[in-house]
Amino acid sequence: MSAFTVRLKFHSDLSFFLKSKTVLVERQFREKASIKDVIESCGVPHPEVDLILVNGQPADFAHVADRDTDVDIYPVNGRTFFQENRLQTAHIKKFIADGHLGKLVHHLRLLGFDVMYDPAAEDRQLLGAIKSAQRALLTRDRRLLMHAIVQHGYYLRSQYPFEQTIEVLRRFNLSSAFAPFTRCLRCNALLEEVEKGEVIEQLEPLTKIYYEQFRRCAGCGQIYWPGSHFDKLLRRIEGIRATLAMKR
Ligand SMILES: [Zn+2]
Repeated sequence: MSAFTVRLKFHSDLSFFLKSKTVLVERQFREKASIKDVIESCGVPHPEVDLILVNGQPADFAHVADRDTDVDIYPVNGRTFFQENRLQTAHIKKFIADGHLGKLVHHLRLLGFDVMYDPAAEDRQLLGAIKSAQRALLTRDRRLLMHAIVQHGYYLRSQYPFEQTIEVLRRFNLSSAFAPFTRCLRCNALLEEVEKGEVIEQLEPLTKIYYEQFRRCAGCGQIYWPGSHFDKLLRRIEGIRATLAMKR
């Protein structure tokens, strides 16, 4: 097979992933390759790509490049054209986070979102869970995000948990889907309201006196009440809402 050239133009913030930060990349090939592999050879994980145009026509990741081609690659945000050819699902509310993201997971669960998280899990176990549970992967591991099993996912740009939370909420359009204090921060199971009498034996003396409303985790049994930490959590939620409302 004679050599051919694929010219790729990465639009909008996809330049974040490119080594040279130039949005135009040329690649020479001697064997045919899937568009997924061509794009990822430039450093851009496929879950970050929402639209591919090959010589102006929409294509999916399995499209085979075997001749001189111009490819336009668009990220998830800014859906204004070729709506029906988009490759990503915008509204996902269930996630799986890889290790080292404990604080992000805490923030998302506080807002009520379902986030599987096991800091001890190996990549192999993580990928197995993604396959069976249809969740979007949240990670700062680009290689992991490029794995063919991963259909939906997001590479966290920031290393700071608060900013990461804002990124996820924006990427998956979650700002109107908050359900604060409905999910266990420890284990991710849903909380249920319980009578004080049911949990009174497990409460500290002052908690017994001052609080009347309790919720219990259906998974691990952890008891929650609007105690001293509650104001801090409320302020965090307000901070998230205020940041989301700001223009980028
Ligand atoms: Zn729990």
